[in-house]
Amino acid sequence: MTDLKLQQEVREELVRRGFEIVRFARPPLGAAARERFAEWLAKGFQGSMGYLERRRAERLYPESLLGDLRGVIVLGHPYDCGLPNTEAPEAGNVSRYAWGRDYHEVLGEKLRDFQAWLRGRRPEVSCYAGVDAAPILEKAWAERAGLGWLGKHTNIIHPERGSYFFLAVLLTNLEWIPDAPEADRCGTCTRCIEVCPTRAIVAPYQLDARLCISYLTIELKGPIPRELRPLIGNRIFGCDDCQEVCPWNRFSRPTEEGSFYPREGVRNQPLVSFLALDEAGFRERFAGSAILRAKRRGFLRNVCVAIGNSRSPELAEALVPALSDAEPLVRGHAAWAYARLLGAAARPALERSLATESDPWVTEELTAARAG
Ligand code: SF4
Repeated sequence: MTDLKLQQEVREELVRRGFEIVRFARPPLGAAARERFAEWLAKGFQGSMGYLERRRAERLYPESLLGDLRGVIVLGHPYDCGLPNTEAPEAGNVSRYAWGRDYHEVLGEKLRDFQAWLRGRRPEVSCYAGVDAAPILEKAWAERAGLGWLGKHTNIIHPERGSYFFLAVLLTNLEWIPDAPEADRCGTCTRCIEVCPTRAIVAPYQLDARLCISYLTIELKGPIPRELRPLIGNRIFGCDDCQEVCPWNRFSRPTEEGSFYPREGVRNQPLVSFLALDEAGFRERFAGSAILRAKRRGFLRNVCVAIGNSRSPELAEALVPALSDAEPLVRGHAAWAYARLLGAAARPALERSLATESDPWVTEELTAARAG
């Protein structure tokens, strides 16, 4: 039995806590959403994100996460600060969602506090909360709850807030009056598809994550395919291109959550400034930031690629220590970048590296870089 008064209080309480978009849905997830996810997996578009496949049943049937599931609260928390990202090729472009504190931590704390508040009103409530890392199909629930529509770039768009917000889902054993779904308002627009540097939106509403720069710079743990590296430009952690061109983001308003404003040393920083980071320095600089997720070796891999794309040969000297980094992943991408900046002039240093290299993958990279 739905408690309308409680539902209104819940809505107001969540808005007060910064979840500016609050919608409700009833389980189960629709068959169409389940089929779409299964088809996406069947095409292999998830790349190396094997965890999506492994916990597939929980994503499709959230009743397995909360036995007495009766109602779902779907939340949008804006993170846009209204500040521009860098266009300078010698500075690092970090996706705007990662400029501030790690959203998993910020939203996780908020949801824990909210659940304590809810238990104060309904001691019998049980919940399962998900912020990105949980096996929940957040976008499918967001569509079902009318939080927005799935844009052709596969992000959820709210008609009055755009798409710069985090999604969170709260499965509950309480019933809620569901909100109506939102109509798709992309119309004939194809801007996101056209702007994507790697053509990762292979068809409207279909993202091949294996090509997406967010996947390549964050999720992918190994080498970035050589043919994709030049297309990554100066993006060192994620990519906002498809959202930046979306006309609905003209409605985006700066968030009031101070945690998501840029912290020191992340936004628009000189690329070469990251090369000096050892393990301890990396962990210290990005403590509490989502960037930690890439690990030092993944992040420096991205930085090397971006330096290689800078077209500034004067940055090549800064790559020399990275050619002998302890991490093969860093050495291999540094070799690629060094050769890209210097051409034939890179050969002597690459020859020296080849003479002492024992890792087969780095040897292959060095050989390819030397051949130009
Ligand atoms: S850029 Fe255009 S097509 Fe892409 S999500 Fe936005 S409105 Fe839809």
